[in-house]
Amino acid sequence: MPELPEVETTRRGIEDHVVGRRLVDWEIRNAALRWPVELPGELRNQTIVRIDRRAKYLLLRTETGALIMHLGMSGSLRVVDSSVAVRKHDHLDLCFDDGGILRLHDPRRFGSVHFQTHPVEAHFLLAKLGIEPLGPDFNGAHLKRLAKGKRVAVKNFLMNGHVVVGVGNIYANEALFMAGIRPTVQAQQVTLAAYEVLADCVRNVLNSAIQMGGTTLRDYVGGSGDPGYFKQSLNVYGREGELCNLCDSELRSLRLGQRATVYCPKCQQSRGFRKNEC
Ligand SMILES: [Zn+2]
Repeated sequence: MPELPEVETTRRGIEDHVVGRRLVDWEIRNAALRWPVELPGELRNQTIVRIDRRAKYLLLRTETGALIMHLGMSGSLRVVDSSVAVRKHDHLDLCFDDGGILRLHDPRRFGSVHFQTHPVEAHFLLAKLGIEPLGPDFNGAHLKRLAKGKRVAVKNFLMNGHVVVGVGNIYANEALFMAGIRPTVQAQQVTLAAYEVLADCVRNVLNSAIQMGGTTLRDYVGGSGDPGYFKQSLNVYGREGELCNLCDSELRSLRLGQRATVYCPKCQQSRGFRKNEC
């Protein structure tokens, strides 16, 4: 599933090819995505002025609003020209005045495309989102404040989009390892100091994934490949039963909120949180 770093890499990858271009036409081959795709006539001939990311949504901003795109479970975007053959699952083309086409490919069709006029942030998909993990407001104090009275496991707390957006399962596992916090600890029991470390670790794990994604940017234009998702070097995720990179203890796994959770029993404590390297 495209996670926040892949979405951010997509944003950077398509930005130079789409911003400043006028949207002259579109073709919806299959409107049956997560919500039916309908684009209003007023969108025609509008120029894309900027592309932002909010959580895992791409916002292609125009003069009167924004196209709000989500890649769902399996979506990807590429910039092609009209000579590139349409593949199965290429559900939408956005056609620009320079001949470029932004093409949405989504085999499982959990993605979505909406157009929302100003104020774009009032759209139902965006209105209730928590804060951005890479934004200025995400820090230990924010986490500690929201954790007050919360008995839920800290890993589930961290993956709750009302607390902070875009921290998917892989990144939650990795950040908790780096912060030396056991994923099962109740959110309310994590100290402010440990939350400060955790906020730094979340930022670092996301930023390093985004940096790694920079090397795949060329895949967004032409070519046949889908954007490759990042083979980030992972410390715990997918490594249950293997040895901890820091202490050689055997990594353990359990399920939290139906999601695979892997941790080091020695490096990740339930109290007296010990910082690893982040
Ligand atoms: Zn360890």
